[in-house]
Amino acid sequence: MTNPTLLDETHDPRARSWVESANQLDCEFPIQNLPFAVFRRGDSAEEFRGGVAIGDQIIDLAALAKMGAFQSQAAQGIRAGGLSSLNSLMHLGPRVSSAVRRALFEGLLEGSSQQAALRSCLVAQSDAQYSLPAQIGDYTDFYTSIHHATAVGRMMRPDNPLLPNYQWIPIGYHGRSSSIEVSGQTFHRPQGQRLPPGAAQPDVGPSKRLDYELELGVFIGGGNSRGTPIPMADAEAHIFGMCLLNDWSARDLQAWEYQPLGPFLAKNFATTISPWIVTLQALAPFRVPYVRPEGAAAPLPYLNSSSNRDAGAIDIRLDALIQSAAMRARHEPPHRLSSTTFRHAYWTIAQLVAHHTINGCDLRAGDLLGTGTQSGPTPGEAGSLLELSVGGSQPIQIGRDEYRTFLEDGDTVIFRGWCESPGAVRIGFGDARGRVLPAIDIGNNAAV
Ligand code: CA
Repeated sequence: MTNPTLLDETHDPRARSWVESANQLDCEFPIQNLPFAVFRRGDSAEEFRGGVAIGDQIIDLAALAKMGAFQSQAAQGIRAGGLSSLNSLMHLGPRVSSAVRRALFEGLLEGSSQQAALRSCLVAQSDAQYSLPAQIGDYTDFYTSIHHATAVGRMMRPDNPLLPNYQWIPIGYHGRSSSIEVSGQTFHRPQGQRLPPGAAQPDVGPSKRLDYELELGVFIGGGNSRGTPIPMADAEAHIFGMCLLNDWSARDLQAWEYQPLGPFLAKNFATTISPWIVTLQALAPFRVPYVRPEGAAAPLPYLNSSSNRDAGAIDIRLDALIQSAAMRARHEPPHRLSSTTFRHAYWTIAQLVAHHTINGCDLRAGDLLGTGTQSGPTPGEAGSLLELSVGGSQPIQIGRDEYRTFLEDGDTVIFRGWCESPGAVRIGFGDARGRVLPAIDIGNNAAV
């Protein structure tokens, strides 16, 4: 089994590519990254197909497959990656995706004999449009940040912010895959039932407390057969890679509807992910020990392993930014709302997979897990407006003269992610952006 935490020559910080833009210091897609997406040339009638980012270019895997320049597992993976979704490549598991990664790394290295062949398969990212990287069968959202869970819990239960199950069980719920879109998503402000403060009964209308949630997405690679749990030791071999994820949330709808079965319409109207999936292999240099807070109980055995303790966490830096319609009109750059890192998470990606399948639930290639809102230990590291505005009680300034408690129509929210560590080349996730449009008038007050 390939170990996604091990370093090899594909992580060598001295490696440089003949694609010059990949060697620039601020480049998100150096030769050490090589993330996957599904793309085509913008505004064309071309078929969508898989590609791999290098510098400011994309290697077209469908074109590369036609050239037949690679052998065995790499060739098999490139053929699968050239299809209109990455599900087939994901299904083939980490041996094949690692073989593709290694073959492309060698072909893109300075001095490679395959330079001419690969150069003919490049498409500029500035010419590309993206689709969802996979057909997402099922989507599950978790709640892995203890800092987020505590901050939100404190608003509802000041004396008892963290429920007793939190330290034992990775809390999650089944979300909806139909409304997941790739970066650039726009959606109308959701409407639904809300219980106004002090009211005896709910009304219906546009959400007044629309929020974002700063999350990472985890794409499942090879699945498991139904009835067969995935143990911790194998969990990461079932993960293809990670992306940025915005779990847009209507807090007022959620507050009224969530008991006793959890979120429903407050969450399922839109979810935005970044186009690029960074593989676990590329994330290897950014592994960190998984450390429980002082005094916390050890995880139950099915959620515990030595490799998880040694290197189960990943230091992925995350930024959330906002740009209002007025800021766009004035050509002002987005305003950064907060920064945090995934290393603060209370549960690791391996634990999410092991827990999800302990009852025999089958995961399938292309399934998506959300990590839950990522908030760090300090208020400035909060991954939602709910936390940053303290439940809507403290407006925060954005840009020159605007304030927000929750999102307004025309707001664009942008997530960015990257990894950096001494001795490693910085790699990026690109971004995930989405915009709120005004609610559709459904004639709420009309008699039926
Ligand atoms: Ca969430």
